[in-house]
This record gives sequence, structure tokens and C-alpha cells, in this order.
Amino acid sequence: MMITCKLISTDHSIPDQIIKAGQTLIIGRNQQCKIKNLFCSRNYCKIQLLSNENKLLVEYLKDDRTVQMKSGEFINGPGFSYRICMIHDSKNASTMAHVMNDEISWTELESGNVMIGSLFGGYDCKSDKIAGFDFDFTLVCTKTGKSFPSDENDWKLFDPRLTGFIQKLVKQQGYRFVIFSNQLGISKGKVTVDMVRKRFENSMKDLCIERIPCLILVATKDDIYRKPCIGLWNHLVRNIQPDVEINLKQSFYVGDAAGRSKSALKKADFSASDILFAMNIGVNFLTPEQFLIHVAKYNGFDYQQKFEYSSSLPEKCFKVDDKTKESNFLLTNRLTGEKIPNIESILPTRVHCIIFCGISGSGKTTFYENYLQPLNYVHVNYDQLKTIQKCQQLMKKSIQEQRNIVIDNTNIERKSRQQWINLCKENGYEWIIFHFELSLKHIFHNNKFRQLTGIHKSVPDVVIYSQNKKFESLQDDECNRQFIVNFNQKFSQHDHQKLYSMYLLEK
Ligand SMILES: [Mg+2]
Repeated sequence: MMITCKLISTDHSIPDQIIKAGQTLIIGRNQQCKIKNLFCSRNYCKIQLLSNENKLLVEYLKDDRTVQMKSGEFINGPGFSYRICMIHDSKNASTMAHVMNDEISWTELESGNVMIGSLFGGYDCKSDKIAGFDFDFTLVCTKTGKSFPSDENDWKLFDPRLTGFIQKLVKQQGYRFVIFSNQLGISKGKVTVDMVRKRFENSMKDLCIERIPCLILVATKDDIYRKPCIGLWNHLVRNIQPDVEINLKQSFYVGDAAGRSKSALKKADFSASDILFAMNIGVNFLTPEQFLIHVAKYNGFDYQQKFEYSSSLPEKCFKVDDKTKESNFLLTNRLTGEKIPNIESILPTRVHCIIFCGISGSGKTTFYENYLQPLNYVHVNYDQLKTIQKCQQLMKKSIQEQRNIVIDNTNIERKSRQQWINLCKENGYEWIIFHFELSLKHIFHNNKFRQLTGIHKSVPDVVIYSQNKKFESLQDDECNRQFIVNFNQKFSQHDHQKLYSMYLLEK
């Protein structure tokens, strides 16, 4: 086996150097090294790779001192700092200068929604144990201290111990090292694909210095691949290593977006997408700080340690409550509190009109499709008819035909509900009001679900906020038959059911 040594400039200000076994290299302010600092002599030190010992001999020429150094250590001097990286490879050493470039490859999924990077064979090394990591502010942070990197060189390792720790996990404990990263900046046009890739390459070559295989999965859009959704994870387990069953208990995920509130040392986390991602998958979660403490203490990842993330989970994070799903009543009489298991028992026997009220995303149309469409109600819906005039025309026409009607509009103001009530009164129709009363979080959850699946139209968040603000509570005198709908969505597809039961909102 051929041993080659690579000296990697830690701040990338000067070119990296390659030394083959038996060769020597003079580090200094010379043509080869391109060190600029005037305090560095032209012949500062002489480096020699001892061919059979896997060590580097460093001779400081000025003070006649010689030291032996090994992989992972640093050679420092005026204007330079190199990290030593020993490369064991059977390949011809003449190709080694390009090895770092050759050994990362990128592919894409679904017209670029996902980018997949494979470093040092990261795509092909399977394991039942996944060591998952977020990228920004978990493995690397910016040199500048800004929230967003200014270019592909704006990075430094989050902690220098990460290199050794990840190496230990992979080489000694058999973990597969995988990065799961949200990079929405790409589809928003704030950063280029090229810059994002280069930043991963530059930093992860440094982190995986001992040729640790690394798989990089990047979500570039706001879709099911973006954390906390688990599209990237599903792609890994279903498509990249479908033949290996993952041990969730021993797998873990590390990320900084943990929904932590502000502390004396740190500002509040911008999101909880990392902890929710781990919870949606069902693996252990650690913040970067917890990971460093844990691995330093246990000398690796010790899955027998209990990870209690329920205590650190921000209360505001929304998940559809299991109790809601299992409750067996459909409606509550708003005036009497009576629970009603099925809709037929409360429908008038005479022709009538059901007036919905509830903000966008509260499930009105879904309810119509599940319960009223089969009963042949006329569907008066603003989203389809586009104007209130057309809604009124359809209602009047249906009254002439003596058909049952449902007004599937938000009807958030009292006066909007009143116009339908007046039409009923004038025409001798009975009316019932169904109120879709969900928490704002639940509505955002539904809206996100719609965006992810394309089932019904989703609306911008601001629309929901503004409707919520304008909402005029239902008054007892508006109707003597008013019901609160117990939202309990039914799904025809199992994967939709599964998605709906996860954390979908980022905070
Ligand atoms: Mg992060």
C-alpha cells in the first residue's frame, strides 16, 4: 500500500502540499509553498515522510531541532498552519494531488430538489447505524460569525474535536456518517448550487481528513425533503440502502435547531426543525454541545444512555394529538355541549342550508367531501366560484330547486354569515352553522400538509394570520342549531396518514 502525506492549509490561504514516501519538502517563503509572511524564512523547515513508519520528520532548519509528527497534528509557523493527513491508498501516488477533487461526486433527485454528495465512497458504505448530522452550526459555523456564509470559504469546524470523534464513530463503532441539510437559499436564489457544493466539499474534506466516507443529503426546496419532514431520511433507507434495516435505537441525529430559548450564552434557536426531524424518524437527538460532551465522556456513542428529548421539546411544537384522532364523535352542540357521533342525527328533515365558518385550512372542504357530498348537497364555494355574487346566484337557484345547500366559505365576519341567514329566512329554509374551531397551530399544520401533498390549495401564512385576527366569534343568537366540528381527518393513502401525524412545522 502506498502512503502519501497531504499537508492541508487550515485557513486555505496557501496551497496544500503533497509529499510521497521518501520525498522531502522545504516549507518556507518560496515558490512551492507561496507563504507570504516576511517572518518566515525561505527555508523554514524540512519535511520528510518516513516510508515505513507512517510518520513525518520535521526539521526546523534555523534552530536545528527535529520532531516526529503524525496524522491529525498541526505544523505551524509564521504565515502558515498545515494539518497533517496521511493517506493510505493503493492508487498511483501521481494521481494523489487530485484525489481530493476526484473523490467527491454529486447527483440530484427530482430536478434538483435533493442534492446528494458522496465523499470518499460515502454513497456506498452501508450500516444499520446512522450517525446523522445537520451541517450549518453543527459541523461547521461561519468564520465571520454571520448567520449565513458569505462564500464557499466562509466556514470553520464547529469544534476541532469533531474530526476525531466522527472518525471514531465510523472506524470503531461502524456508524454510517450522513449529513442532512436544509439549503432553501438555493431555490430562493440567495446562494448558488456551486457555492453550496464547494462549501460542503471544502469543509468536509477537512473534517473527513482520514478518508472517512461521508454521505451528504441536501434539501433545496420547501417540500417533503426539508426537515422536519423526513424525505431525506426515507430516501436513504428506501433507496440508498434498502437492504439494510436501520437500528433506530443505536442511530442518532445531531443538530442545532432544537427550539431552545434564549440563554445568557446563546440566542434563541431560529427553529426546532432538527429535534423534530429526529422525533419524526424516532432516533435519538443531541444538540452539537450535547454530542461533544457525550462522545468525550463515553468515548463514542453510547446508545444505552437515555435520551429524553421530551423535556427539551418546545411546548409550542405542534403534532396532531392522538386523543383527537381517536375521539369517536363528530360534532359538539355549541349551545348544549352535547357530543354527536354522526351527522344524520342532527340534519333537519326539511330543506335546509348548512353554513360553514372557519379560517382557511380548518378543514371545511374536506368535511364537505367526506360527509355532505355523498348526501348530494349543492356546494357553494367561493374558491371555485370566485365572487360572492356567483355564490349568491347559485344559492338562489338551488333554493328554487328546493335542494339542500352548504355554504363552504370562511364566513369569518358576522355580517358575512348574516347574508346567508337572511336568504334562508326569506325563503323559508332552515339553517345550521358548523364552526370549524381549530387552534391556530393546527391550522398551520393542515396548511403545511396541503402544501406538501398538494391535496387542496394551501394559502400563505399571512392570510391565516389576518383571517384569525378578523374572526368574529359565533354568537348564540345567530342560530339555534350551531355545532363545533371535531376535526378528524380521514386519509385514503397510508403515507398521507403517516405524514399528517408527524411534526410538520419548523417551530
Ligand atoms: Mg443548523
